[in-house]
Amino acid sequence: MDSEVDPPETENPPKRHKCSACYKQYKKKEHLIEHMKISYHSLHQPRCGVCQKHCKSFESLREHLTGPLPKGLCSTIFSQQGCQLCLSLFDSAVSLREHLETCRLSSPAPMGTDAMPYISSQIDNLDSCDENGAGGRPRAIAMDCEMVGGGSDGSLEICARVCLVDEDENLIFHTYVQPIIPVTNYRYDITGLTEENLRNAMPLKEVQEKVLQILYNGESTGKVLDGGKARLLVGHDLEHDFDCLKLNYPKHLLRDTAKYRPLMKTNLVSHSLKYLTRTYLGYDIQSGAHDPYEDCISVMRLYKRIRGQIHKEEGYGTLTSNNNIGESVCWQSEKVSNLTPDELYAMSRSDYRCWCLDLRPNLAP
Ligand SMILES: [Zn+2]
Ligand SMILES: [Zn+2]
Ligand SMILES: [Zn+2]
Ligand SMILES: [Zn+2]
Repeated sequence: MDSEVDPPETENPPKRHKCSACYKQYKKKEHLIEHMKISYHSLHQPRCGVCQKHCKSFESLREHLTGPLPKGLCSTIFSQQGCQLCLSLFDSAVSLREHLETCRLSSPAPMGTDAMPYISSQIDNLDSCDENGAGGRPRAIAMDCEMVGGGSDGSLEICARVCLVDEDENLIFHTYVQPIIPVTNYRYDITGLTEENLRNAMPLKEVQEKVLQILYNGESTGKVLDGGKARLLVGHDLEHDFDCLKLNYPKHLLRDTAKYRPLMKTNLVSHSLKYLTRTYLGYDIQSGAHDPYEDCISVMRLYKRIRGQIHKEEGYGTLTSNNNIGESVCWQSEKVSNLTPDELYAMSRSDYRCWCLDLRPNLAP
């Protein structure tokens, strides 16, 4: 019934109904409408710079552009003028070369495990006053935790190290954490941690307080829903970090590179941070022990890159909160069957909140 393959050009095909966003074709109009209902096409989806096709993820866009079965013209033009990292298209090979100098990054110097056991900078006093005031936007903080193992088989996750970095890649908080149960496996190959590192480390309760203090930034918990001074928290699989830290933070302030739709695999499985860093930033991390500072820098860079995408403003008014994402459309209405594919596309809404909206000052997160 549904065809992803272009129909043969030879015979005169019967009238097809083509999606304006992803170019899939349907014999029946109601099948196109069904497709639009579940596709959540929007201006925020990753798109081919050549044919403008919308893709659900950067991974599917990458397949469209570079194979294994790339689209002819798109892949030819992309191979000469496209950036393999961010998948943007440039006017010429010269502008592409200029672009690559800023797009391909190199890895930061790792912090290692000889670093001071406890670091906390005075970020709060520096920029808390009016950073989110009128016309402002919420600032982001990246977090990474390292876990060691507990329990008889060492499989229980115990938070042993926490690191926070600001948008300018400054280390603002780092500490080792006193294990809440006995450590049975330091997972040295991955964590680089030994008993020595965790001796006299900060108690978990104190770590929780410090982290929340930095994140809430003086905002009262009750006011966090309308934005306020609270910071966005960037990380990779933050839920896991929170489980181990035994902490909570409002969902709408989380920016998770493991859960962000365009950065996930087509089948909605997360990519590893190591893969994302190599594929989108152009360098390798985690070749030896994991370095929480290095991981923080990776997620922050990924976040800023996604946030910096230039997307047109939707013509249908402002998207202000999560509850009208993907849901405000009434596909049931009788009228829908008379709409053109373009009109159907204009009705379609994203099912995730694009990070580019974090830079639009009049939008609360
Ligand atoms: Zn489509
Ligand atoms: Zn966007
Ligand atoms: Zn294309
Ligand atoms: Zn690029």
